[in-house]
Amino acid sequence: MLTDLRSDTVTKPSKEMKAFMMEAPVGDDVFQEDPTVNELEKYAAEYFGMEAALYCSSGTQTNQIAINVHCRPGDEVICSKDAHIYFYEGGGIAKNSGSSVLLLPGDRGRITAKDVEGGIKDPNNPHYPLTSLVSLEDTMNRGGGAIYDFNEIKAIRKVCEENQLPLHLDGARLFNALVENNIPPKEYAAQFDSISICLSKGLGAPVGSVLLGNKEFIHRARRARKVLGGGMRQAGIIAAGGLYAMKNNIERLKEDHKHAKQLGAALEKLNWVEEILPVQTNIVVAKLSNKMDVVELIAECAKKDLHFMAFGEQTIRMVTHLDVKPNNIDHAISVLEGI
Ligand SMILES: *Cc1c(COP(=O)(O)O)cnc(C)c1O
Repeated sequence: MLTDLRSDTVTKPSKEMKAFMMEAPVGDDVFQEDPTVNELEKYAAEYFGMEAALYCSSGTQTNQIAINVHCRPGDEVICSKDAHIYFYEGGGIAKNSGSSVLLLPGDRGRITAKDVEGGIKDPNNPHYPLTSLVSLEDTMNRGGGAIYDFNEIKAIRKVCEENQLPLHLDGARLFNALVENNIPPKEYAAQFDSISICLSKGLGAPVGSVLLGNKEFIHRARRARKVLGGGMRQAGIIAAGGLYAMKNNIERLKEDHKHAKQLGAALEKLNWVEEILPVQTNIVVAKLSNKMDVVELIAECAKKDLHFMAFGEQTIRMVTHLDVKPNNIDHAISVLEGI
């Protein structure tokens, strides 16, 4: 048996999803004539109670487009030092938008209203860069799938409003957060000016992300997407996978969370594991004791068809997803216990 816990991006489209994709009506989306892309954008916007949406090729692209619309060269983005937009997007904030960052420490990547407030620079002092955007990530990837406290998000929103700053959400795993904290999607989304969601993570679509915002923002985002080479033509064939995923694969994310907790509990008992970040969603991050060589561990497990990744020094990450079934969890635990 093969158990692939490297990422929730490794899922393959199911037979039903593929059938839905094959039958999807298509058109030229740069002309906004693709009925399936239009339907996905409408569905996602309505789901979150946002005015408009834009289908894009990846979550990096939706984040980078949002930053590009919100910021000018020389401006500053406030985010966690562990934020995907800073850490995992190839320096895109600087490269695509000429903007810089103020990196806040945060608890498992979750920054606070107090720190945000302290980080906003006086716009009237010409020494400083202009603070133009605050960006949060929920769930937090490098924080091991940690979920934000909704009250903290509301407090951050208030600080942003007081300072006339837009608030962006990297919601690559937003659905993982929402099935756990039970906040209605519209109430949650109302806190943000722009939201990026991924369809190809836990939701299991093969390609794509959606950027959400008001009409004016999405109008500008459409231009930014074209400039970044992200204008796709008969994109409905892949957007259909995303539409299917949004309609069928959200509630089942709870199963992935149950599996992650089982993995976490099993890892906790092993004498070569020093610490597990409390498992809140579908990501398990374990710090290993010094006697365990991470590279060797990964190679040893790979020989037994169990795959996961190194995640910084003496640390590993395992991610559950819709192609991980209960017997994969049994397999993973038995391989780990055999080390
Ligand atoms: C995966 C991910 C993204 C987007 O990644 P792509 O591979 O570009 O789709 C963005 N933010 C977070 C937190 C992610 O985990």
